[in-house]
Amino acid sequence: MTDAKPLIAGNWKMNGLRAEAVALAEATAAAAASDACEVAVFPPFTALDAVAGALAGSPVALGGQDCHEAEAGAHTSCISAAMLADLGCRYVILGHSERRHGRRETSETVRDKARAAFRAGLTPIVCVGETRAQRIRGLGDEAVVDQVFGSVPHAEGPIMLAYEPVWAIGTGKTATVEEIAGMHDILGGVLEALERDCEGSPILYGGSVTPDNAAEILAVEGVGGLLVGGASLDAQAFGEIIRAAG
Ligand code: PEP
Repeated sequence: MTDAKPLIAGNWKMNGLRAEAVALAEATAAAAASDACEVAVFPPFTALDAVAGALAGSPVALGGQDCHEAEAGAHTSCISAAMLADLGCRYVILGHSERRHGRRETSETVRDKARAAFRAGLTPIVCVGETRAQRIRGLGDEAVVDQVFGSVPHAEGPIMLAYEPVWAIGTGKTATVEEIAGMHDILGGVLEALERDCEGSPILYGGSVTPDNAAEILAVEGVGGLLVGGASLDAQAFGEIIRAAG
């Protein structure tokens, strides 16, 4: 872990109507009493306003799960970074594998979205990760490095990376501490090549994080926090992951 407080981020994906989201936000806020880490939640767009209200006065930060690269205009169904900021968001997740692979989003688009996030005062959390096929063919490192060079703007605005091996997301198959350490080391070098101060650009790990493996992963050199999917929908499990950071 770096000297900065780790960020424990919960990506709720497309889960939760407003009442459920508010209840989960309240339970998460109650579990986030420790000041040993930062906590953020990423509800669906439709619940952001309600969750912002539920989190008022709590240290838990709010984020969006994506944004459009344009500031405004004829983009039916899309959400701008300024709209997220207007709802009280501090962060936005960009380039999640469910968008890169599920929605064919390119690194170039992710980079444009990151710039839109900077303009709105948001910190982008840019996700990168290799697929199982790339890994098996020995092309995992190269794929991830290419994604970072393609998705992260050169020396502009504060940014976080999330290393999320695609084969580990929602599968129960977590990367080993050696694999995580190796990739975080590579990513630290790439951030330096992009003239980014690594202390100011934390690298999170995501992929089947649970209360059982959170402490071990957080102890890996270079891991600046966790991006948690499934386990963040269970307030008790997410609370245990938060406590693992303290
Ligand atoms: C994610 O989708 O970002 C994620 C890490 O999911 P899970 O924790 O469920 O693997």
